[in-house]
Amino acid sequence: MTTTNTQQTTNTQQTTSDLETLRQSLTGELLTGLSESYDAARQLHDFVWDRYPAIIVQAATAEDVAATVRFARTLERPLAVRGGGHSIAGHSMVDGAIVVDLSNMRGVTVDPSTRTAAVQAGATSADLAGAAAAHGLALSTGDTSTVGIGGLTLGGGIGWMVRKYGLAIDNLLGATVVTADGDIVRASAEEHADLFWAIRGGGGNFGIITEFEFRLAEVGSVYGGALVLPATREVIRGFIEYAPKAPDDLTMIAMLMPAPPAPFVPEASVGQLALVVCVCFTGDAAAGDEALAPLRALATPIVDFIGTMPYPAIYELTSEAAKRHGASVRQMFATDLSDSAIDKILEQMQEATSPVSMVQFRGLGGAFARVSSKATAFAHRDKPLFVAVIAIWTDPDDDPAPHRAWTERVWTDLEPFASGVYVNFLENEGDARRREAYGAVTFARLAEVKRRYDPTNMFRFNQNVRPAR
Ligand SMILES: Cc1cc2nc3c(=O)[nH]c(=O)nc-3n(C[C@H](O)[C@H](O)[C@H](O)COP(=O)(O)OP(=O)(O)OC[C@H]3O[C@@H](n4cnc5c(N)ncnc54)[C@H](O)[C@@H]3O)c2cc1C
Repeated sequence: MTTTNTQQTTNTQQTTSDLETLRQSLTGELLTGLSESYDAARQLHDFVWDRYPAIIVQAATAEDVAATVRFARTLERPLAVRGGGHSIAGHSMVDGAIVVDLSNMRGVTVDPSTRTAAVQAGATSADLAGAAAAHGLALSTGDTSTVGIGGLTLGGGIGWMVRKYGLAIDNLLGATVVTADGDIVRASAEEHADLFWAIRGGGGNFGIITEFEFRLAEVGSVYGGALVLPATREVIRGFIEYAPKAPDDLTMIAMLMPAPPAPFVPEASVGQLALVVCVCFTGDAAAGDEALAPLRALATPIVDFIGTMPYPAIYELTSEAAKRHGASVRQMFATDLSDSAIDKILEQMQEATSPVSMVQFRGLGGAFARVSSKATAFAHRDKPLFVAVIAIWTDPDDDPAPHRAWTERVWTDLEPFASGVYVNFLENEGDARRREAYGAVTFARLAEVKRRYDPTNMFRFNQNVRPAR
């Protein structure tokens, strides 16, 4: 045996023994390619990401996470983090890496007396919504029940009540963070305030959050549902002008797409291009109808299906998105779109490669806009509009290429109106787009905090902010 081979054998033996030591120390499970549940554990929501990590640590405690970070650090192995598994860029499962999988840490403890919730980082939006609703409380999280609170919150969290209660991060009181050194610290306005600023929008760059503490709002039922309007330039313009200026109680997500075969859609309209406006109003029906009047005046609705419901029922509107699928996404913030851009979107929708692909519009403003762009690492507070081109395909055997090409074509028409991008809707789009998510000032400040907490860029499988020199 050569010296090199002897060295390799010794290293392999050492790694195997280190791995066994790690396994013994864990409360949770350590999976390798030989484990029965390895294949299920490596799945992400988007089936395009078919990755084979070296090991998956299904953490049960913050100590498990810390031990895994120290293990990866000592062996200089790449480390990725999986929460709810909805990464649009596929960052949470990496070939050959050690993956810290938080999906078994889903506990939610609500304290109704303080109107707060301690939420383990693997919880989904549905987990939190259900636990909070039992006390007539809620947090505004994303539009889809299965999205992880972890990734969602770290990027900002644009939810069903964003105009009333701001982003998820605007309601974050503190977090338990495992740092790159494997220490467990608390980040809040009083402790590690720089870290607390950075994790509110800066993504997974600064550590692994094991628990979030949120302030909840008193939300029992909401007046919500879908208003399906004809897909015309006037209707779209009317929506994008009204949605950011409506009363704060009204948050709307509009999807320009073929009307889905939902039970409330008349058969003759199914498959016809329409603006499906999903509505969440935090008030009673009378006030809701008043707030919706300008929208209903845009055109005679094809469907008007709005009623009082418990807040978690709002997720039924997006139940299809909660199923695994393939997606190609380009997102932007904007202040306006020209008539000709709207016309081009309408034309492109006729060429969509899948019946569930869409261009999505969300009105921002309200409480979202009243937080200073310096207060957190979410920089785009002044942007009234969220626009996303989303090609979706449901057959894993489909060739992604035509869907991606369609997204690119629509994006080419829209890009001149882009004014920043939401970090949580970025694919792997390069350094310039990543910087657009923050703007120069916030990006530089994030790089400085990164230098303090993760100088070797251990946490790099994310929309990466490299440490300042
Ligand atoms: C169908 C769908 C609907 C969506 N709707 C919305 C929406 O309405 N509003 C919105 O704001 N966003 C929305 N998103 C985007 C979503 O917020 C991001 O994709 C988010 O990153 C998903 O979080 P996750 O924990 O599920 O994902 P994961 O894939 O598990 O994690 C994504 C990344 O986040 C980081 N991360 C996750 N958890 C932790 C942690 N505890 N500590 C450190 N880093 C961590 C890691 O870098 C990881 O790679 C949607 C996405 C999808 C696919």
